[in-house]
Amino acid sequence: MYMKGRSVVLGNNRPEGLGNFRQGAEIKMQHLKNGILQTSVHNFERAATRLNLNESIRRKVLGPAEKIEIKINPVLPGGKVSNISVFVVRHNDALGPAKGGIRMTSNVTLDDITGLAMEMTWKTSLIDVPFGGGKSGICFDPATLSLDAKEVIIRAFIRGARRHIGPEIYIPAPDMGTDEMDMGHIRDCISYSDGISITKGCFVTGKPVILGGIVGRREATGKGVVYIVLAMCEKLELDITEMQVVIQGFGNVGSVVAAEIVKCGARVIAIADITGAVVNPNGLDIEALSQYVRQVGGVKGFKKATNVERAKVFEVDCDILIPAAADSQITVENVNKIKTKIIAEGANAPTTPRADQILNERNILLIPDILCNAGGVFVSYLEYTQETQREQMALAQVKQRLAERMQQRFNDVYDFAEEKGLTMREAAMEIAVGKVVEAVFARGLLP
Ligand code: NAD
Repeated sequence: MYMKGRSVVLGNNRPEGLGNFRQGAEIKMQHLKNGILQTSVHNFERAATRLNLNESIRRKVLGPAEKIEIKINPVLPGGKVSNISVFVVRHNDALGPAKGGIRMTSNVTLDDITGLAMEMTWKTSLIDVPFGGGKSGICFDPATLSLDAKEVIIRAFIRGARRHIGPEIYIPAPDMGTDEMDMGHIRDCISYSDGISITKGCFVTGKPVILGGIVGRREATGKGVVYIVLAMCEKLELDITEMQVVIQGFGNVGSVVAAEIVKCGARVIAIADITGAVVNPNGLDIEALSQYVRQVGGVKGFKKATNVERAKVFEVDCDILIPAAADSQITVENVNKIKTKIIAEGANAPTTPRADQILNERNILLIPDILCNAGGVFVSYLEYTQETQREQMALAQVKQRLAERMQQRFNDVYDFAEEKGLTMREAAMEIAVGKVVEAVFARGLLP
């Protein structure tokens, strides 16, 4: 077996005493519902226990620092007044201003945004950029909107949340349901209301390049996932050209992962999105699929593949499975149907705690979200510095810095996991939470 003897996969190499701890975590898990916040709190609590944090520090770091719900009532084209809940959460800013995307979906909740903001705190810490964690949400389905209507909502969100956004407070970026164009409107909305052409400092990342965005930001998360997968294959002495890959999600992250991993020689044999799933054991034609999705809006109906229900994507036998869609997708209900060697979490919190534990028992190697999909926030950091210094970075430079950082942090997490007999999630969380705690103590605890 390719994983034999590698302590990083857990199982036999746990430190003594962890048996009891696992039992404790088990009891707690029974009270957890499937959801981003529960998953994030669970992962934090485990790290906090290993780091031996006392209760008051634990609560301070668990946060969040600020959690806001705002009602906006923009008038949409056509004259209808809409009533929309929007959220902004700054989870922790011990390491710097909060950084994290804007999620726009019909069912996003304040709890989701809090969990995602927490994830960002660990992600920015782990990938070593001077930011804390934040996130925002707009509770509306963007698929139902014309471009004009979406712009109205984005601008209304920014006006409502303006005082919580800024280079030293919280800097948003794209996430599910939002894109580069929306970030351009945000940049304009802020400079317009300040009566100036540019903003004073970086208020938003993931902007169009023409407005001070950085080249390569749109692809950064997906490319980062692929760099991490390549690093893992190298460690395990697996030949990427022999790997069969399955991807859930064909949006910003999933579509870039698919295109990039095929360039490396791997075969993508199944892809799912919200409309359905397509399978081709000989390898999907990613270019043709992308073109098809651009035309019809989803993968369903793509001719050069077998069409199946979207949930079936997790049952396809493969070497590498990449969830790059939503949270809480790998659960107790489907975890035992998964047939893969490696899971690389492109999405945030795609695996519930109980499923995580089962994957671990099944010796399936999991590369955690806070490492795997951190390429986006790393390049956002480059955009922030570029804008602050009025610099212009070339694509080659961005790519090189991204590749180096992903490789370096992968090695750090992998080596730490091996040394301590931890899973990669446990190792990543311990490093990330440890750094935030160090910053909290360095700042001092007195008011
Ligand atoms: P997106 O909106 O561009 O794409 C989401 C994709 O997932 C779409 O193809 C959609 O159809 C599909 N999808 C949604 N629900 C699904 C389901 N139940 N089953 C199958 N497919 C489903 O979003 P994105 O920006 O690609 O983000 C995807 C994930 O990656 C999210 O968890 C996000 O938080 C995370 N992430 C994104 C970035 C980024 O830079 N965009 C950075 C880090 C993490």
